[in-house]
Amino acid sequence: MKNNEKSAKIGKTFEAELPAGYAQVFHINAKDKKIGILFNAVALVIMAVVVVLAAIPLFAFEVEFTESTSPMLLITYTVFFVSLIAYIVLHELVHGAAYKMLTGEKLTFGLSWSCAFCGVPTVFTYRKTALIALAAPFLTFSVLLVPVAIALFFVHPLLYIACATLFALHLGGCAGDLYMMILLLFKFKDKKLLMKDTGPEQFLYLPESEEQRDK
Ligand SMILES: [Zn+2]
Repeated sequence: MKNNEKSAKIGKTFEAELPAGYAQVFHINAKDKKIGILFNAVALVIMAVVVVLAAIPLFAFEVEFTESTSPMLLITYTVFFVSLIAYIVLHELVHGAAYKMLTGEKLTFGLSWSCAFCGVPTVFTYRKTALIALAAPFLTFSVLLVPVAIALFFVHPLLYIACATLFALHLGGCAGDLYMMILLLFKFKDKKLLMKDTGPEQFLYLPESEEQRDK
């Protein structure tokens, strides 16, 4: 009932089965060796760039680490690793929350050698639903971590570095989500597009006539 009410408000968010006339137009598997390595390499480059950029204010303000930093260093390491684990779990939960709100269907969560994942494997979500679920953690944690990092800059430089590093890992970790978002925003703009997201794998489908028109 709840889902019907939602459908009335924002239009159909998903299909329980692939409608007749649809054909698969794209497939990616994060567990595939080449894809997994490629996306983690891209993630590392993004992280490195963000870390370098985040270090600029430390030099600009000539921040010095002259005080006895060892207890502070231990605190910072602990806070950082706890935050990192929490972040990985929360990132997937935010995907899950978006999928759950928009479809009400059963979710899948997991961890593979190349990534953590969340999917809604039994249904085919429309483009808009897919975009919201893909963008949710990227937007949520970007909006959260940037002001926190700026605030921590004035609390302690080590805490700032920890938060900036977490932000860098967040952006790098979103490489796969960002790639799918770019595909949906610029390549597959048809709102009739359906995505099946099993977690590590994403499949895209279009009505057959339109797939031919695109070619
Ligand atoms: Zn993600």
